[in-house]
Amino acid sequence: MNDPCDYKVGDWHKKLGYFKECPVCKTTFWGRKNQKYCDPKCKGKVAIEKLAAKNKKYGKNIQQYMKNAEILESLYPGLNELKPVPKALLYGKGFNDSGIQKKVKYKRFEGEWNLIGEYAYKLDESKQNIFIIKSKDNGKL
Ligand SMILES: [Zn+2]
Repeated sequence: MNDPCDYKVGDWHKKLGYFKECPVCKTTFWGRKNQKYCDPKCKGKVAIEKLAAKNKKYGKNIQQYMKNAEILESLYPGLNELKPVPKALLYGKGFNDSGIQKKVKYKRFEGEWNLIGEYAYKLDESKQNIFIIKSKDNGKL
């Protein structure tokens, strides 16, 4: 086997190294054992695709987070009014509680709240309604 054309993917040659196929462009090449791509361009392409997929995933989460914050803002009853808002109203507007939110506790309000942006909410005892507060209201009531 002296002609490189006789080799197949996976073969080894003591001077050329390993015979490989680039998973991106399908070009065959000789390279080190741990070399996966034919050149930095193909390697870069994979990195960009991974990043794009990540952005797509997080971009969606961030969009929902912003939507949730907007919905809370639109339903916020105002300072000094810890009044229940029907949960159905919240979800009817497209609220999604599986998104990004942070559990918080306040001195002036009982229980655990879910903070989204500058608003926090929690279910009431009936679990049919929620209370919405503005995070900075904590010291004012
Ligand atoms: Zn390639």
